[in-house]
Amino acid sequence: MEKKSRQQFEFKAEMKQLLHLIVNSLYTNPEVFLRELISNSSDALNKVRFKQVTGEKVQSPKLPAHIKIEVDEKEQTFSIEDTGIGMKFEDLTERLGTVASSGTMEFIRQLKDQKNKLDGNMIGQFGVGFYSAFMVAEQITVETRHSDPDEKAWIWVSDGKGTYEIEESGRTERGTRISFRLKDEHKEFARSERIKQLIRKYSNFVDYSIQVNGEEVNSRGAVWHKNKNEVTEEERNEFYKFISNDFQEPLDHLHLSMEGRINFKALIFVPQKAKPDFFRTENLKSLQLYSNRVFVRENCEELLPEYLRFMEGVVDSEDLPLNVSREVTQYSPVMAKIREVLVNKIFGMIEYWAESEPEKFRTFYDEFGPLFKSGLNSDFSHRDRIIELLRFHSTHTVDKLKQSDSEVEQKDSEVEQKKKGDAASDKSKKDPGENENGGEKSGATAMDDMVSLKAYVERMPDSQKEIYYLSGDSLEELKRDPKLEYFRKKEIEVLLLADPVDAFVVPGIGSYSQKPLKSIEKADLALEDDPEEEKSDEKVAGDALEKLISVFREEAGDRLENVVASRRLVDSAVTLTVGKEGMDSHVERMMKMMDQDMGPSKRVLEINPAHPVIRNMSRMQDSGNEEMVRLMARQLYDGARLMQGELESPGEFVSRMTRVMELTTR
Ligand code: ADP
Repeated sequence: MEKKSRQQFEFKAEMKQLLHLIVNSLYTNPEVFLRELISNSSDALNKVRFKQVTGEKVQSPKLPAHIKIEVDEKEQTFSIEDTGIGMKFEDLTERLGTVASSGTMEFIRQLKDQKNKLDGNMIGQFGVGFYSAFMVAEQITVETRHSDPDEKAWIWVSDGKGTYEIEESGRTERGTRISFRLKDEHKEFARSERIKQLIRKYSNFVDYSIQVNGEEVNSRGAVWHKNKNEVTEEERNEFYKFISNDFQEPLDHLHLSMEGRINFKALIFVPQKAKPDFFRTENLKSLQLYSNRVFVRENCEELLPEYLRFMEGVVDSEDLPLNVSREVTQYSPVMAKIREVLVNKIFGMIEYWAESEPEKFRTFYDEFGPLFKSGLNSDFSHRDRIIELLRFHSTHTVDKLKQSDSEVEQKDSEVEQKKKGDAASDKSKKDPGENENGGEKSGATAMDDMVSLKAYVERMPDSQKEIYYLSGDSLEELKRDPKLEYFRKKEIEVLLLADPVDAFVVPGIGSYSQKPLKSIEKADLALEDDPEEEKSDEKVAGDALEKLISVFREEAGDRLENVVASRRLVDSAVTLTVGKEGMDSHVERMMKMMDQDMGPSKRVLEINPAHPVIRNMSRMQDSGNEEMVRLMARQLYDGARLMQGELESPGEFVSRMTRVMELTTR
């Protein structure tokens, strides 16, 4: 048959933009391209080794597994060749030309805004490590043959400027060879000494021989098989970067070697930052599975529950048969046991941070908290452990940050001290005057603006029967919410839930330490009676109050469940709360955004009988100024809806306001 002629293809739109950026930028760390290419070769060798041990037929079965790099200083050329799985025609068009993450465009925009040099390290994050070679090369040639004996060999060529060409090749051995001429400013990578030095830094743990101009340069060995103490921090971190494409050091790691009833080794890491677009479920990747150093598969879902899929790393067990299909591992008791141990160890690590390493805990909580918390709804067996690890902003913690009132300082530092036995707080307790403003700082840790349920309950007064919370779109908005007035005045702590996930998981907790968790938006709060307030005569009461309430009822129509005199308002005239069965307004808004509109729940309007406006309204009612009273009732109700983001007709609101002004300035 005649050879198929050369065909030209266009990169997909996202890829084009990304390539434009790669091709036209200046870089720090351009040497990263080498790590990316070696990592791809190592993956490809892993895949073919697995096929061979499981008895699949492969092209050129006798070929040794290795990675060969050839450089020529005079010609300024570089090539890397592996005897791995190779690529089919579809791999070249689909996998090599596709951006993995759907958050890429946003990330590209962010990168473009960085006027300085790009960090070459960041390219791996897109899942397009191969293209990092365009940092150092103008044109790249890939010659490849897949391990399936029926597949043909191909040559792929591109200058990264929008198109690539593919034609058939005469290559007979399986594997892939990538070659290019280096740009002048990067000709250092044609020096074999430079390449060897880099390989020693990046790739010492690659399990295959890496040769540079014929000389083997790496000391092979799976890092996770080594004794914990034999692995240096640098080696471990390089390994992490190698498998994760991350450019930062990991936040922490676990190196496990379990022997006995279950045998496995694991080296797993927590990243410092979530990758772009991390929270889309399809981007959540689990750990890599090896069976006695032979790679079985990446993203082994059975190893970790979804809410712990921020972990990166490898698990290697001799107890698993090699040719384990997904169906088998899913129900394998060995796998279940490994998972149980892993989950337990991961919890242990997070709990340790919470106790002793607040900085790490904070980083983890900010980056992965939303995912982690979702475990509350999915993993019943670890529910209690997750609940203990929850942290919330609260009126106490945020108000404390604003004040330097020594009394508050002292009270809080006592709690703090009970919590942590912290020496710095101890000092501020003994002499609060000594560090009036500095006290905050000296005892402060990364978690001080948040509180655990345990600490909340510990500082709750005996008379308080419920744990209070309020959820909203942002902490700033929450801090200003008038529903907090009463609680602030009475110094009752309210948890402020600004993470959207909280609004869904917290109501599900039900109660903690026998105290029900209650949204302060609910109308039926178990608030304590205050005899002093009851006596106050600066308040609309009795028949006058009833009369006024009925005006509000008439004006609001059947949209309200009820209108009641409020016990919790201090500075505001009215507020909207939620009836017994209703959903919090914030949750309702979120459901709406997710197209799950269940129709608005009916609200309860609470009015503050001691507020000057309410008192004036009552007086106007006595003197027969009915129009004004009705206008104001309607206006106050709409104002409360506006605050909740639930006002549908701002036009009416404004024209009514104009009418009120007209009447009052007459
Ligand atoms: P990633 O490695 O993160 O998936 P790359 O852009 O580096 O992203 O590679 C894209 C895909 O191209 C890989 O997933 C793999 O399928 C294929 N590929 C790249 N290099 C090789 C190679 N040396 N051998 C076989 N396949 C390769």
